Amino acid sequence: MATTGDDRTDTAGRKAPLERAERDLVALGILVAAIFLFVGTGSTVMTGIVRSWIYGVGSPDVLLTNALILNVALLLFGWRRYAELQREIAERRKAEETATRLAQTDALTGCLNRRSLDEAIARLVGEAAASGEAVAVMMIDLDKFKRSNDLLGHKAGDAVLVETARRIEGLIPARGVVARLGGDEFICAAIFAPGSENAIERLAVRINDGLAKPIICGGLRAEVTASIGVSLGFGSAGQTPVQVAQDLLHRADLAMYQAKRRGRNRFAWFEPSMESELRFRGELEAGIREGLKRGEFVPYYEKQIDLETGEITGFEMLARWISSRHGVVSPDVFIPVAEEIGLIAELSEALITLALEDAKAWDPGLTLSVNISPLQLRDPWFAQRLLKMLVAANFPPTRLEIEITETCLHENIAVVRSLITSLKNQGIRISLDDFGTGYSSLAQLRTLPFDRIKIDRSFVSSLARSADSASIVEAISSLGRGMALPITAEGVESAEVLSALRRFGQFKGQGYLYGQPASAEDVKRDLAARGLLIASAAPAGTPDSPAARSA
Ligand code: C2E
Ligand code: CA
Ligand code: CA
Repeated sequence: MATTGDDRTDTAGRKAPLERAERDLVALGILVAAIFLFVGTGSTVMTGIVRSWIYGVGSPDVLLTNALILNVALLLFGWRRYAELQREIAERRKAEETATRLAQTDALTGCLNRRSLDEAIARLVGEAAASGEAVAVMMIDLDKFKRSNDLLGHKAGDAVLVETARRIEGLIPARGVVARLGGDEFICAAIFAPGSENAIERLAVRINDGLAKPIICGGLRAEVTASIGVSLGFGSAGQTPVQVAQDLLHRADLAMYQAKRRGRNRFAWFEPSMESELRFRGELEAGIREGLKRGEFVPYYEKQIDLETGEITGFEMLARWISSRHGVVSPDVFIPVAEEIGLIAELSEALITLALEDAKAWDPGLTLSVNISPLQLRDPWFAQRLLKMLVAANFPPTRLEIEITETCLHENIAVVRSLITSLKNQGIRISLDDFGTGYSSLAQLRTLPFDRIKIDRSFVSSLARSADSASIVEAISSLGRGMALPITAEGVESAEVLSALRRFGQFKGQGYLYGQPASAEDVKRDLAARGLLIASAAPAGTPDSPAARSA
């Protein structure tokens, strides 16, 4: 921006308006005063000068003549300064306009940017309120844009964003705006007549379809789709248009996440339940952080049984959150959240430490199984940390089994393979959990050195009543036999399931038939009663041998 040395400027480099007005006024004042002076002195002095030159009568007053010359100089100076100022002002105005445009638009796509968005939507809200209409806001987020960006390069990524903006702009109605929020997020908002929900949905579908068409740039073909969240609102009596705009944006954002969850490349309307979901989610996150500090996460244990002999062979540790606020919370609720907020490793390691201490008191013949999140397997130091925990607890690695799910196998098979190998070298055993629910192929089963597969409980618990489940369990058990992989059946809920299972071969099993997962204290009591607690840990008055292992 053009500024002169004596100008005071604010932090954004803009000239203080009062000062500018003052300067304009001074320049104008000088000019006007010069004109008055010229008119006042000019007439007398000029007559004297003319008379002395033409008629040779008298001589002009020297003082007045000098004053007149000075006055002319002043006039010229004033005029030049005034003209200069006019030019300066015009330049500054142009620079300000450019700066405003740059501040309000996104440099890459030329759409509005985040800064100017609230105000632009607020303007639409005000306009719509005046005419009894409504404003629809769409939050448009490209799906897996990062992947195509990594794959095709940033230049192609930029071209995709520019083309996306152009396509959205080509589709929105006349009274609408398009903005890019940064990254691959776009917003469009437009005024609609009341009862236009169908038209809004048609627009969302057109945007989905339009963005899904391949984009060709520099010989490369990029294919992206978008998830769209839609909110619709009217001006409200208690809120300013800016507040309404912010609400609409927030709601469209929540709806967009719903569209992602429902499978991407689609749109979703905002629903009020999304707000309470979000609040619950926020409470959950805060609760997990706090609960971790307060030691509210504890291991529960589920018996694992040799179905042939009926003996207990070990326990699977299952996390429980004994929350002061929510009661006993299932891992299906808090594990995914802990994974998302980056606390899964800390949480899991705290639980494993507790479990190793508990299991040390059990009969040395009993194993301990722990579930490991796919995220933990991405950590190259995981194996080392696990071994350190085993050493610290003085727990033999051969008694530990870790359970990983098939989803791990899609992440980075090479990393998982080297991790599994180093754990196995230490004597730790590895089970493939929830088998049958994912996509692991026979080839993967063969290349990864698993020690056991666990048939998912969904097949086992329905075994007695579903022919499909029965054939899946049969197929998995013959696969296990063929590959010499022992099998555990999860979800053994009834005696019928147990006898159906027995027909297919030899299994280990676990499930509600043998009891619900129990706390460390309950397990200790149970094991003590069976004589399966090491002598030093057995509560007084309980038999410590001979063992009555049978469940
Ligand atoms: P999972 O590894 O498949 O664990 C078995 C789940 O089935 C447990 O649910 C258990 O309570 C339940 N279950 C046991 N027997 C029966 C039965 O007969 N019928 C039925 N319908 N269900 C039965 P839970 O404890 O809610 O655990 C759910 C999942 O949470 C686990 O599934 C596991 O994947 C995960 N999880 C639990 N603890 C941890 C942990 O410490 N770390 C990680 N990463 N995941 C964990
Ligand atoms: Ca498991
Ligand atoms: Ca399982």
